[in-house]
Order: sequence, then C-alpha cells, then structure tokens
Amino acid sequence: MTQAAILSRKADFPGLMTPGGDAWHYLDTAATAQKPQAVIDAMSNALGRDYATVHRGVYSRSADMTLAYEAARRRVADFIGAKSENEIVFVRGATEGINLVAHSWGGLNLKAGDRIMLSQLEHHSNIVPWQMIAKATGAEIDVCPLTDDHLIDLDALETMLTPQHKIVALAHVSNVLGSILGVKRAAKLAHSVGAKLLLDGCQAAPRMRLSMTELDCDFYVLSAHKLYGPTGIGVLWAREELLAAMPPYQGGGAMIDTVTFENSTYAPPPQRFEAGTPMITEAIALHAAIDYTQALDMEQLFAHESALAAKLRSELRAMNSIRLFGPDKSAGIVSFEMEGVHPHDLGTILDEENVAIRAGHHCAQPLMAHLGVSATARASFGLYSDESDIDALLRGIERTTRIFGQ
Ligand code: PMP
Repeated sequence: MTQAAILSRKADFPGLMTPGGDAWHYLDTAATAQKPQAVIDAMSNALGRDYATVHRGVYSRSADMTLAYEAARRRVADFIGAKSENEIVFVRGATEGINLVAHSWGGLNLKAGDRIMLSQLEHHSNIVPWQMIAKATGAEIDVCPLTDDHLIDLDALETMLTPQHKIVALAHVSNVLGSILGVKRAAKLAHSVGAKLLLDGCQAAPRMRLSMTELDCDFYVLSAHKLYGPTGIGVLWAREELLAAMPPYQGGGAMIDTVTFENSTYAPPPQRFEAGTPMITEAIALHAAIDYTQALDMEQLFAHESALAAKLRSELRAMNSIRLFGPDKSAGIVSFEMEGVHPHDLGTILDEENVAIRAGHHCAQPLMAHLGVSATARASFGLYSDESDIDALLRGIERTTRIFGQ
C-alpha cells in the first residue's frame, strides 16, 4: 500500500471534520480512535434492522445474531493470531480484561510472599488491579525501571526476576511514549522463573500485526475503541487450558451450566467469563473495524505512523522550547513538554486551530513522576493521520510561542 492509499482514507471518517466542514486535526488516537463509516454502519444495522438478543432466542433473528456475535469472536481470533475462538473472551475493555486476570487468576494463584512485576511506564489500569489483588492476597509489587531512552529495561528485568514472581504485566506499547516492548525476551525472562506474562496491548493492537503464538505471552488484552471500533468492548486472550483453570470473575446468566440454590456449575471458557447479555452490537462493530483495519496491511500501517512520529520528533527537536520524551524509534505516539507553557494551555490554544492533542498525565502518574513532570502534551497518530496534521500542530505551537512571548 502506498502513502497515497493510506491518505485517501481520511474521507472514510466522518469524525475528522468540524461541524462547519473544516478539517479537524485529530492527534488523540491513543486515547480513542475515530470510526470509519463502515463501523458506524455495522453498529447502526446491528442496533436497527438486525437487532435481537443472542444465545437464547429460537426465532431466526436471534439465531442470526448469535451467528454474527460468534463470527466476531472468530474474526478477533484470526486478527490476533489465536489458535481458536475459545481463547477469546469479550470484556468491556482492556481495563476489565486486566481486572479479570488479576482477580480470577491472581485470586487463585497469588499468596503472601509472591511477587508481581510491573514497569515504570504502565497505565493505571495495569497498576491498580494488581494493587487490589496484592492487598487481598498479601503478594507484593515490584517495578521494573526504564532505560535512559524510556524503554522497559529488560536487563534490569533479568536481574530483578525471582521464582517468587508469579506474574509479569507490561505494556506492549506505551500510551505515553510509544516505547515498544521487546516481547520475546520479556516472555523468555518471565517464563524462566515460572511467571506468567500479561501484555497490555491497547496501543499495539491498532498499530502492529499480532500473533499470539509468536508473542509467547500468557494473557493479552486490548480495547476495541482504540482499534477503530466502538467503546464498551475489548478482548482478553489466553490459551484455553489457562482459561479453563480459572474461576469465574462475575456470576449471572450465560456463564453457567446448571444452577440450583445449593450450587452452580459453570460453562467452559470463554462463556464462563461472559456473565449477562453480552455486548452484541459492539462485537459486530468490532468485526467491521477489524475488517477495515486489516485490509490496510498492519505492517504498512505501523511504518506509516512511525514515520509520522519520527518526522514530528525531528521537527520538535529543532525547537529550543521543546523537551521530548520517549525513544526515537517508537509507535505513532509522541510526548513532549513546552518550556514555560502548561500542556493544558498548549492544548487549549491548539484547539482554537482545530488541532486536538491530549494534555495531562495520561493515566500514568508513576511515569510522570519518573519524568519529573505533572503532565505532558501528547500527539498520537492513526491510520488516517498525515503530514497536514503535523503542519497544523507545528503552526499551533509557533502561535503558542508567540502568545507566551518566547
Ligand atoms: N492500557 C493502555 C496502554 C492504554 O492506552 C489504555 C487506554 N488509555 C488502557 C490500558 C485502558 O483502556 P480502556 O480504558 O479502554 O479500558
């Protein structure tokens, strides 16, 4: 796919316009991605003309909906290189996926004296669930440091890991810095001490070709809304035998085999972990999002966003007032600080120029503390981004410089 072929996609995204019809330079895809019309249409049809519940109805609309819901599960399995659709649990998002693993797997397998390994750059959703289960079980948390160029330091991980570590939970790609984890080595290190490896794939899934067998992790989570799909649905992947050994996370309809007042028995995974009426329309829209994204070739998508990130970094590096964070070779996410200008002020001025960036701690306060800032400005790219977005951002930064008299 050529650069031009990617650029032509902007027109597929109705959200990339202001209400007045001007271009909107959306540089906050790491928070949530804009949706192509194909996803909006799939959701609309699923909520309208095709709508019915799944797994229960004997009427044909419900049977069709069940087929569509399960087809979405198969599509996800194929997209992430899973062996079977039974490895795919639909959850509310990456946050719920990590909570599920922490409470179900962690509740069963962690005890006082055990250790949990996280890293300095984790999102709060890959910290707080582990703190909760650590408090409940008596396990303790260790934090793997970063290298000088803000990658998770795998040499340090090697020296820190012990047989007491039962789980290592790391971001595949950092939502703040775009740092890419050396997954194969991390998996080898975790497994060498008998620990499981959970990868937070929120930022990797929309940018990289995934193969669960090649990655050799034990748990993988992602959120559909960052993958050009809807909010309210995400994926937890784990091998069937690992899921089969885990107790349910929530109880209710659809996750049982038999129920009496004395006892209940549970369905096999993945249904065991999907209590209640599932996210039917969201699953169908996620299917459409994967169809749309995968048609573009994930490797070229990654190269496209990385090239935009590299160009933005080189432009920002040339400005005296900018401090850049993160490694030079990164996924399409760039965090920076402007001397004498709070990121919120920068974000507000850029908004006047129809440029949307994220300003804040990005749900990564421990990382902010490590960087010595309370907040950063972050520009993040998606498959629809192009150089016009960078140009608009740079124009906005120049205007901010003038306003602040630098
Ligand atoms: N991990 C990372 C790296 C993220 O970027 C995000 C979303 N900002 C999350 C976890 C949480 O995802 P969600 O809010 O969709 O559950």
